[in-house]
Amino acid sequence: MNRTRRPLIAGNWKMNGLSAASTSLAAELAARATDAARSGSLRADVLLCPPATLLAEVGRLVAGSPIATGGQDCHAEASGAFTGDVSAEMLADIGCRYVIVGHSERRSLHKESDAIVLAKASAALRAGLAAIVCVGETAAERDAGQALAVVERQLRGSAPSTSAAVVVAYEPVWAIGTGRTASPADIGEVHAHLRQVLKDHLGPKGNDVRILYGGSVKAANAGAILSTADVDGALVGGASLKADDFWGIVTAV
Ligand code: PEP
Repeated sequence: MNRTRRPLIAGNWKMNGLSAASTSLAAELAARATDAARSGSLRADVLLCPPATLLAEVGRLVAGSPIATGGQDCHAEASGAFTGDVSAEMLADIGCRYVIVGHSERRSLHKESDAIVLAKASAALRAGLAAIVCVGETAAERDAGQALAVVERQLRGSAPSTSAAVVVAYEPVWAIGTGRTASPADIGEVHAHLRQVLKDHLGPKGNDVRILYGGSVKAANAGAILSTADVDGALVGGASLKADDFWGIVTAV
């Protein structure tokens, strides 16, 4: 962890949540974050990325608290005939400050290439949002010794080179939703490499970009992961769906 970059703990609810349970989760987290900020113990930015159906409601519930909201994806265009899609401008319009782009589930299930992810990340910046650009290798790529080359190619291909309003999330595909986490040594190696690539890609501003780790982060392993050099926070899936589990990660910072 580098104290010049404020850590970010982001919850990705994925396609989970109906309004009753989700509103009580958001309200509970907003109350805890407000109390922690008042007592001076909140040491991270906190972000919730619920499904699009809940974004406006969660946004209302966390308004006035230190919690920000973000989308899980956006279209590259601002508006138009794109049935089922949501634009970055629409997310900004309802108060979002972030959007995740290039999550491995989008890259694999929706066949999103680096070029598509770059267009979405650029759309996010155009709309005034911070883009959380996800990169990560598969198990086969890691076993073949290609992890660093894969994440470098994804980062160079999908992160805009004109702005530091980008957050990078390193999420090894084999660690997402599997209960397996990368070791702190492996995480540190990849994050150090991503930092070098960012400095090459963005110049000195590459030092300001937060690099999150994601992949089965829980309260029990968060302390070790978050104390690894160049880890500036976490992107959390499963453990972001319960207040105690998610808050345990926030307080591990
Ligand atoms: C994710 O969806 O980005 C993620 C990291 O999921 P999980 O924490 O469940 O592995």
